[in-house]
Amino acid sequence: MALSRPAAGPGLDPGETVAGLELVLEHARRYLEALDEAPVRRPDSDEVARTVRGPLPEDGDGTVDALRRLIEVSDGARVASTGPRFFHWVIGGVTPAALGADWLASLLDQNAGGFDASPLAAEVETVAIRWLLDLFGLPASWGGVLVTGGTMANYTGLAAARQWWAKRHGVNLDAEGFEGLPTVPVLTSGFVHVTALKSLGMLGLGRGRTRICEADETGRLDLDLMEKTLQELDGAPAILIGNAGEVNAGHFDPIAELADLAERYGAWLHVDGAFGLFAAISPRTQPLLEGVDRAHSVASDGHKWLNVPFDCGFVFVREQTLLSEVFGAGADYLPEADEERPIYAFMAPELSRRARSFSVWATLCAYGRSGYREIVERCLDNAAHLLAIVEAAPDLELLAPAPLNVVCFRYRPDGVAEDELDELNLAISERVLKDGRVYMGTSRWAGKVGFRPTFVNWRTTAADAELVVEVVRDLGRTVAGG
Ligand SMILES: *Cc1c(COP(=O)(O)O)cnc(C)c1O
Repeated sequence: MALSRPAAGPGLDPGETVAGLELVLEHARRYLEALDEAPVRRPDSDEVARTVRGPLPEDGDGTVDALRRLIEVSDGARVASTGPRFFHWVIGGVTPAALGADWLASLLDQNAGGFDASPLAAEVETVAIRWLLDLFGLPASWGGVLVTGGTMANYTGLAAARQWWAKRHGVNLDAEGFEGLPTVPVLTSGFVHVTALKSLGMLGLGRGRTRICEADETGRLDLDLMEKTLQELDGAPAILIGNAGEVNAGHFDPIAELADLAERYGAWLHVDGAFGLFAAISPRTQPLLEGVDRAHSVASDGHKWLNVPFDCGFVFVREQTLLSEVFGAGADYLPEADEERPIYAFMAPELSRRARSFSVWATLCAYGRSGYREIVERCLDNAAHLLAIVEAAPDLELLAPAPLNVVCFRYRPDGVAEDELDELNLAISERVLKDGRVYMGTSRWAGKVGFRPTFVNWRTTAADAELVVEVVRDLGRTVAGG
């Protein structure tokens, strides 16, 4: 089917556009009404998803039919990660204000590169960054930029670190590359996230070169070993990665101690706080982040605990000019940045950028500091509630303390030998993902397989948290009994 305006070539029929949007709105009403009760995933979702397959249409089906088909498939094949019972990985929901703003970002389709491309998007991003710095208790003098998620936030922060490191060796790495430079010393604990390592690889620093200073098989930081390693560098600059919230049990490196080391040895401290940075919002957990304001770069995520839609992350840096040194891309056809009119395209990897600031700004505008404190504390309460149930249950075993929002535990009924527990819990986990009442996976803590439900969704209630235990017991009995 041809688009109807202009007569020749592609264009938009306003009537058709609105009809499509109305269809989506009508679906949104139904979807949101059912979300709290709906299964997280349907058992036949893989097969349903495959129904989108087919050859490229020769003549299109038209706006409304295409959207109708996508909605139909989505009903059977989506994972309700925005619902209250999704506890897998660390995936946030979407607040109402963030959802509306995200729709607006597509409607207006702004290029958030800078002021010439869209004064709206550039100004909203500037304010969003200011508000986030304030929310997390980071210095107002820092710079920052929105990126697509935690991976790119780590990449961008570590790119600034790499540029700083080479300058300490008297080289502008951005212009000249690595020639003549030594290996970059990167030190961290065993809590380091795979995407921080991946970022080191993408930056040419070598994932495998990272010096993991861990005290035991949990990955906990060995501070003495890190200090000894720094001493051996004999004054050469190094990059430290502090992990504020690791994914298995929500544990933290001692950030203040890392900041002390960074100061003492003249190192760069990058902190990965993809979800852990949100601990700053509640006085109950803020001490976990003590010293984060002494870091040089901090990475975090929007699509996790901020509950804005994919994809959204942010990176904050003490010295903003390092970002422009790495990501600047001057050309005759492009504008130049000045203090009042920053060019975000020159501070992060992408030149053309979605206005993901809309949902960040809107959700902070809608709920404010107190609303976010409430969201964070509700998640902390849900985690504490589950923790208490696990601790009191004879058939469940807590595998690690739960300082934040992740509860790492395993099913351990009477009569199952220690060396059968990994297999049992993995078998339950497979069934959990098909069951659909709750959604969560496993990981390992000190070598033992356990579930690691994570609380970041604003919709989740205490009853939802209780269902985690009910489902594990229910499926556990089936597996252990069969
Ligand atoms: C999720 C996560 C990341 C990666 O973030 P993405 O948004 O998935 O790219 C990095 N570090 C930590 C600690 C995380 O939890």
